[in-house]
Amino acid sequence: MVDIKTDASLESMRAAGRVVAQTLTAVREAAAVGVPLTELDETARAVLREAGAGSPFLGYHPSWAPTPFPAVICASVNDAIVHGIPGSYRLRDGDLVSIDSGATLDGWVGDAAISFTVGRARPEDLRLIDTANEALAAGIAAAVVGNRIGDIAHAVGRVCRAAGFGIPGGFGGHGVGRTMHEDPGVPNEGRPGRGVALRHGMVLAIEPMLIGSGTDRHFTTRDGWTIRTLDSSRASHAEHTVAITDDGPRILTQL
Ligand code: MG
Repeated sequence: MVDIKTDASLESMRAAGRVVAQTLTAVREAAAVGVPLTELDETARAVLREAGAGSPFLGYHPSWAPTPFPAVICASVNDAIVHGIPGSYRLRDGDLVSIDSGATLDGWVGDAAISFTVGRARPEDLRLIDTANEALAAGIAAAVVGNRIGDIAHAVGRVCRAAGFGIPGGFGGHGVGRTMHEDPGVPNEGRPGRGVALRHGMVLAIEPMLIGSGTDRHFTTRDGWTIRTLDSSRASHAEHTVAITDDGPRILTQL
């Protein structure tokens, strides 16, 4: 069932979303060659603590995962697409880093992700990151009353495919509200005019994930969480929590 938020609830979700944006900004600033991923998680925890916010990631334990998620961010480096656990790995020159983070404030959740490079960037990585951001922007532009979920999915997928990048099947966006994952699912590829009709008060996380080689193939590593590309090519991820409103899409997870 798709939950429709009141305007007051959207304001609360905006506050939660702002904390997510602050978290991602701080993590990006802290990320540098030699910095361990655990330190990025510590940085994120400090921002959440300062804001009086909780983490919808920490302790999250879906049925498919062997263990509860142990951190407040996902840190997915290079060939990791999503759901990377921030461990002792220290960032290296030229790494492509994707950080996904969430915040819970007054019972409302925000969810967003960014990708960036550390040290000397490879041009092909910058293109992979730029395209994820373009696909996200296209998805957001399609998140308008009168459209359907398939219009968002189509907009996202078209940008990714036109650039020659792969899309890992089975992963995508979702409704957001009191919990991190609500109906409806928001696939990263789809047919326009299909699926749930978009209405004022719906809140969606839109999150393109791209594979640089153009393959869609991926696998789950032995930690039970991290999703990696099968051919070891690099991946990027971008995400915003977006409210559908009569005045157009409203990005909740920005500063
Ligand atoms: Mg999400």
